[in-house]
Amino acid sequence: MSDRYKTVLLFGAPGAGKGTQGKILGKIPGFFHLACGDVFRSLDMTSELGKQFLNFSSRGELVPDELTIQMWRENMHAQTVLSLFKPMQDLLILDGIPRNVRQAEALKASIDVLKVIHLRCNDEGAMMMRMRRRALKENRMDDADERVIRHRFDVYHAETHPVLSYYPESIVANIDAMGSPAQVFQRVLEVVVPVQESHFNRPTSGSV
Ligand code: ADP
Repeated sequence: MSDRYKTVLLFGAPGAGKGTQGKILGKIPGFFHLACGDVFRSLDMTSELGKQFLNFSSRGELVPDELTIQMWRENMHAQTVLSLFKPMQDLLILDGIPRNVRQAEALKASIDVLKVIHLRCNDEGAMMMRMRRRALKENRMDDADERVIRHRFDVYHAETHPVLSYYPESIVANIDAMGSPAQVFQRVLEVVVPVQESHFNRPTSGSV
């Protein structure tokens, strides 16, 4: 079990800002960001898995667990082989997975979850606005349709939110997701920097 990836989960409803925060964090040496949704979107959409992804995501549904976990494992393996992710040096920032309790169970043998960053936002209207903007910018079909967005919120409440109680309360950090990306990032850093410091002995300067 000791070779499990040291991991922080970025958690929150659609549009809460997981991707925005994860992308910034991933630019910092010592952090590796992987967003499950990005991996799905990078698939060849004519492949069997790509078609499955389109089929489920365009309806706001989760991709079946078995496919998702298998794809995640293969992707992590590839990132490691290519040395893009260095498990001995990098804290893994996972975004968008696990998305239900079954996925959390399935990942248990592979990831050592040190912290869950729960980006909290009670204003669903604000999150929906972010998603509509994203639909235009990133050409995301699942963000363009109001009914699909609604359904994604329902799926989040029914399937994903319970993942929070799967992990011990002591490792869940609730962070206010409202504010500018920089403001939220400051709050995220306050939580992740001590985790990174205590699990990786990195030199205090330099970027290699
Ligand atoms: P958001 O950031 O808006 O929550 P994502 O980019 O994480 O959206 O995910 C987009 C879609 O990809 C989801 O609606 C779902 O269909 C699929 N997906 C992403 N991650 C998972 C996962 N862990 N399990 C199942 N489906 C997933």
